[in-house]
Amino acid sequence: SVPLSFFAGIGGASKEGILVKGSNFLETLSQTKIVAFDKTGTLTKGVFEVSAVHHSEMENARLIEYAALAECASSHPISKSLKMAYGKEIDRSRVTDIEEISGEGVLAKVDGSDVAVGNGKLMERLNIPYHECHLSGTIVHMAINGEYSGHIVISDVVKPNAKTAIDELKKAGVRKTIMLTGDRKKAAEQVAELLSVDEVYSELLPADKVSKVEELLSGKSDREKLAFVGDGINDAPVLTRADIGIAMGAMGSDAAIEAADVVLMDDNPMQIAKAIKISKKCLGIVY
Ligand code: ADP
Ligand code: MG
Repeated sequence: SVPLSFFAGIGGASKEGILVKGSNFLETLSQTKIVAFDKTGTLTKGVFEVSAVHHSEMENARLIEYAALAECASSHPISKSLKMAYGKEIDRSRVTDIEEISGEGVLAKVDGSDVAVGNGKLMERLNIPYHECHLSGTIVHMAINGEYSGHIVISDVVKPNAKTAIDELKKAGVRKTIMLTGDRKKAAEQVAELLSVDEVYSELLPADKVSKVEELLSGKSDREKLAFVGDGINDAPVLTRADIGIAMGAMGSDAAIEAADVVLMDDNPMQIAKAIKISKKCLGIVY
């Protein structure tokens, strides 16, 4: 039978905007010693600003227009930012053959031209030579009809309280924090350093995130629980695999919310430590 205090714990958590899907998860939460995060949308706002555009022959505005049109069906934070930078209503009749490649980008026909928008991996997949870029920020490469046409630099912004949220986790008894991201090494390491995240693994495809989490799970004792925090469709498999999956609910995808054991109703990373603290209190653990 489930002790009464567990119901109180779940109720108390829900009042704080933390949805715990079962009493067993409170116990797991209370034993969380390792927290792994997705970067974009979790520790960062996932709302990018276009900070530079580099092109071969195309005008900046045209490059952004093609990017936004090709991205019209995607819900990825990068897509949202490109659509915002374009700023106009998207005429969907100009776009056909849309294909989103998870962890890489999108392919689509815009005005009949083949447009590719995404990272270096996508360019490599298409055998299109691209310029390695050493600027900070996330780089979105573009190719039109198989020709490299330039890149857009967008900078993701760290959530204002992300650093405090990481510090609070340590106070709640978490031993190690880890960032797992599909983004470039350089962008990932900058964020990790800024936030004092203990370990960082970058340029991971969705399947790589799962194997990384499996590796982390097998390398620890069973008494120490590993939580994964994420928001994207990509994150659903990892949320399921971790000892405890925590979804950022407000902007998170339905798939992530469904796969998670705990859902944070707003996207405030401070809620992660709060959930752990509530679970400990409910189990009578002094920390
Ligand atoms: P994260 O782990 O940081 O949340 P994702 O796994 O969602 O990142 O994506 C990894 C990388 O794949 C992004 O940094 C970006 O370079 C590229 N990417 C994914 N989806 C898109 C998209 N719709 N448009 C452009 N690039 C994308
Ligand atoms: Mg993400």
